[in-house]
Amino acid sequence: MSIRIEERRRAIERGLRLIYRLACDAEIFEEYGSDLLSCFYFTYATSKDPELCRMARRMGEERARRWRSDFSSVPKDADVSTILFFMHGTLSAEGLGFADEPLKEEIRRAAGGFDAYDFLAFDPTAEPPPLDVPDVCECGYWNERGRKMCVQCRKRLLMASRYRVWYEGLMMTYTAAHLGISLGVSYADVLKWLPTLHPYRGRAGGENDDFYDSVYAVTHIVYTLNDYSVYRLKPSWLPQEFEFLKASVEDAIALEDPEMLGEITDSLQAFGLKETHPLIRRGIDYLLSSQNADGSWGDAEPEDDIYAYYHSTWTAIDGLRQYPERPYGLSFPELKPLLKQLR
Ligand SMILES: [Zn+2]
Repeated sequence: MSIRIEERRRAIERGLRLIYRLACDAEIFEEYGSDLLSCFYFTYATSKDPELCRMARRMGEERARRWRSDFSSVPKDADVSTILFFMHGTLSAEGLGFADEPLKEEIRRAAGGFDAYDFLAFDPTAEPPPLDVPDVCECGYWNERGRKMCVQCRKRLLMASRYRVWYEGLMMTYTAAHLGISLGVSYADVLKWLPTLHPYRGRAGGENDDFYDSVYAVTHIVYTLNDYSVYRLKPSWLPQEFEFLKASVEDAIALEDPEMLGEITDSLQAFGLKETHPLIRRGIDYLLSSQNADGSWGDAEPEDDIYAYYHSTWTAIDGLRQYPERPYGLSFPELKPLLKQLR
């Protein structure tokens, strides 16, 4: 049985059209183009509705062609964030039919000039995810690990949570592995620290500062292990993660956070919960009731935070769209024994 399927289809299409309009803005595309390509690619590659697949593919192909011409070579002085931008964009552009082997070779060479510490801000072969990685400063500057004051504006820095440092490492090593590029450490090197994140804590009425990042850490274990929605995961592979996601549905709704709720609803379905399950119905009902008039979700103003604006919309779409029947599997099948060890 499908829940509110026609309403969902209309809501998804409006959301995706909005994301495409944003992606067609030159300034936005220059900064977020590689991430936006991923939105079209994953929606195209893993949606059940053939009409939605066609729409996402059409948008994705058009933008991928543009991305390839805008970003045809890696700048000589590329830093790690530029290299990651090229890696993400390349993975999705390839999926949309725009492979570019010479460019991939350039990315590989550029990445070779840096080590794991440069990319992840920690070395997972030697230490757990650390607590002293500064978040980006209000002035926009990324400071080195260990700094307490911004070198550019002298303001006091906030630290990124170890959850975030860890799941960003997961995403980077996942992307690198899929492109056959080495960052000096593997996905397994990062994943093996999972037990240091346990037990997950709920919002605790706003007392738990790590709540947001722990939800996103868990959804990104799901995404990187199920190849961004290709596979279904057994709850017994990640029992604590499964329980934490279920427990967080009401928190995300209490926070009026469709971005978080979209990822949670999506990830719970990756664990096999059906749309008729009360938690999924709850998620779908909330997402359908919280779409903005322009097709977006969330309360970000596009001029203030374009990432939050499109990303909330993207994850709400993921929480609402249907997937074909998915086989059980892992993006890295060889990691099954490690997962067993970790739980
Ligand atoms: Zn600063």
